[in-house]
Amino acid sequence: MHKQGNDLWADRYDRQIRFAPIGTAGQAKLAEAQALIVGCGALGASLAQHLTRAGVGKVRIVDRDFVEPSNLQRQVLFNEADALSMLPKAVAAADKLRAINGSIEIEALVMDVNHHNLAAPLEGADIVLDGTDNAATRLLLSEACFARGIPFIYGGVAGSQGMSAALVPGETCCLRCLIGEEADAEEGQNCDTAGVLSSSVEFVASLQAVEAVKWLSGNRDAIRKSWIAADLWTFSVRESALPGRSAGCPICGRVIAKRDMTSHEQMQAGKESEAGSSSASWCHTAAVALCGRDSVQVTLPVTFQLEKWRETFERLGYEYKANRYLLKVELPESERLVLFPDGRVLVQGVADPARALQLCSFYLTRP
Ligand SMILES: [Zn+2]
Repeated sequence: MHKQGNDLWADRYDRQIRFAPIGTAGQAKLAEAQALIVGCGALGASLAQHLTRAGVGKVRIVDRDFVEPSNLQRQVLFNEADALSMLPKAVAAADKLRAINGSIEIEALVMDVNHHNLAAPLEGADIVLDGTDNAATRLLLSEACFARGIPFIYGGVAGSQGMSAALVPGETCCLRCLIGEEADAEEGQNCDTAGVLSSSVEFVASLQAVEAVKWLSGNRDAIRKSWIAADLWTFSVRESALPGRSAGCPICGRVIAKRDMTSHEQMQAGKESEAGSSSASWCHTAAVALCGRDSVQVTLPVTFQLEKWRETFERLGYEYKANRYLLKVELPESERLVLFPDGRVLVQGVADPARALQLCSFYLTRP
């Protein structure tokens, strides 16, 4: 780096470099690091902003959803124009993050992370931050991270409450050992049913971001070895010792060096290419109710050419809104289909997966 570039770099991160545990060496490590943030709603957007401003060299964000007006109360990277344009959250977030810090790489993936496609977003990640809104995805991420030796920074928020823990393969337990029995309870108490305060989000995002900055700047001994549950409204903070890895657990009981290709991973790669085939068979269809949101996500084993479908629905006289990332169609009885090119459909105004599948089958069998 030439002198002027160096000065700009030192100036930009001056206050962080002056913080002794980071210093110039830590800042340089951050510049070489790669972070994956899964979910770019309230927690994810805040996490992405922290890491982008901190100068993490590559920030990859993954999200399956698009911006709606009800997000604006707490999701700090989005504005009214994003909601009006129905931009995918990953895309809208990446635009803002690039404007905040043009010297790092921001990568946005519009996708629903599942066990078929997890390998690609995890590629090269030094750390994974939890910005998801459901236990199933968190547990999946925890397992994938432990299989690859990558730390997973868990965070969850509902109402005025939040919790967080830094889970490190080989040292701590995995998420299933931590919240396994609570996972179902958590599903019943999420931000869509209990509401959520933006201050609780920021509190948890700060707890997560600081652990990521410690890890990525080389301050691994400083990682907090506890898990925190807090309620900002009543103000109570509970800190409990984080259990070590549990010998009997198939996920955290074994130690795997980072990025060793496991047979499990190879199997995933195989599944991924299988999932990528263009078979129009509906036998691989999955429908998942999104808790408390009156929406079901249906994943079809096809890809959608949005323009073709837009023309079809226009011809049939349906109201629709479209951009290059998605197509939203208003159906009778206030149900909506939101089509993504990767074969996903968010069926809104529907809580029953069977009804969602029925609608997809009726409207989306052929263009
Ligand atoms: Zn475990």
